[in-house]
Amino acid sequence: MRTVEIEPTFESWQTAARLLLRDGVPPADVRWREIAQPVQPSLVAEATAPPPGVVKVPRQFLDVARRAAAAPDPTRWQLLYETLWRVVHQNHDLLADTRDPAVRRLSALAASPGAGSREAEGAAPFIPAGAGITELRAAAARCTGCDLYRHATQTVFGLGAAGARIVMVGEQPGDQEDLKGAPFVGPAGEVLDRALADVGLDRQSLYVTNAVKHFKFEERGKRRIHQTPRANEIAACRPWLEAELAAIHPEILVCLGATAARIVFGDSFRITRDRGRFAPTRWAPKTIATYHPSAVLRGQDEAEQAQLYAMLVDDLRKIATA
Ligand code: SF4
Repeated sequence: MRTVEIEPTFESWQTAARLLLRDGVPPADVRWREIAQPVQPSLVAEATAPPPGVVKVPRQFLDVARRAAAAPDPTRWQLLYETLWRVVHQNHDLLADTRDPAVRRLSALAASPGAGSREAEGAAPFIPAGAGITELRAAAARCTGCDLYRHATQTVFGLGAAGARIVMVGEQPGDQEDLKGAPFVGPAGEVLDRALADVGLDRQSLYVTNAVKHFKFEERGKRRIHQTPRANEIAACRPWLEAELAAIHPEILVCLGATAARIVFGDSFRITRDRGRFAPTRWAPKTIATYHPSAVLRGQDEAEQAQLYAMLVDDLRKIATA
């Protein structure tokens, strides 16, 4: 029997479980013990490099396991390892068997009131004081201030001139942005580029960013479908936006869409009612909101898309001539 000491966190269990799997230790030969201290240095050192031969497990298992690990049940580590062992050695699709007693227990733990994502600590601890845009971008690449970094490809930080007069803020990166690591380079970016060109604004002279720096999505088959970030994720990421705006000091701040507009103008802001008007804020003497370019793409038919595009262009024209 092997006694494995772990901190009561998913990450600590995962580290130990990888090593046990590598060594071929079956669940019946493991006793799990929670400790408050970090795991032994030797175990940490061994785990920093991925052990050879580690078998990939389905993301669904990792998601359920992560939530179940947060449940206040002392037997969860054993259950997690038993299930992992079976996923690796017996049935890769075990979680699809909803009649399996272990799967049912794991699902119940993952859904229990104490389970769920960890409370976001937020981006603030990752932000170097007084940093410029280049340093901020480098630091943001290492941010784990909320859970969104776990499934996204990379941090998508703002891009553009560090001395830009105009800063534009959207909601979050999309599928293409996540893959390319740059904001507004997918279909919504194409709409924005077209609208900017229509009003004579040069994208190279702007700084373009998002309120949330990691792509939040739901997998449907091979597609990754955008999911609106939750309020706690927006709040967690907000320090990056604050730091960008503090470093750039724009004269004009443009909120693209409701998420950015509510961060800047407050929860009562309504794009349909309040867009297209300049107001001073603590971030910029001229702050304005307009439709997010993706709203144009979501128009129900060509006529609605054309109408939304015309309103976006109207607002951008005010910015171009301000
Ligand atoms: S979404 Fe923002 S706070 Fe969350 S991990 Fe990414 S950069 Fe950090």
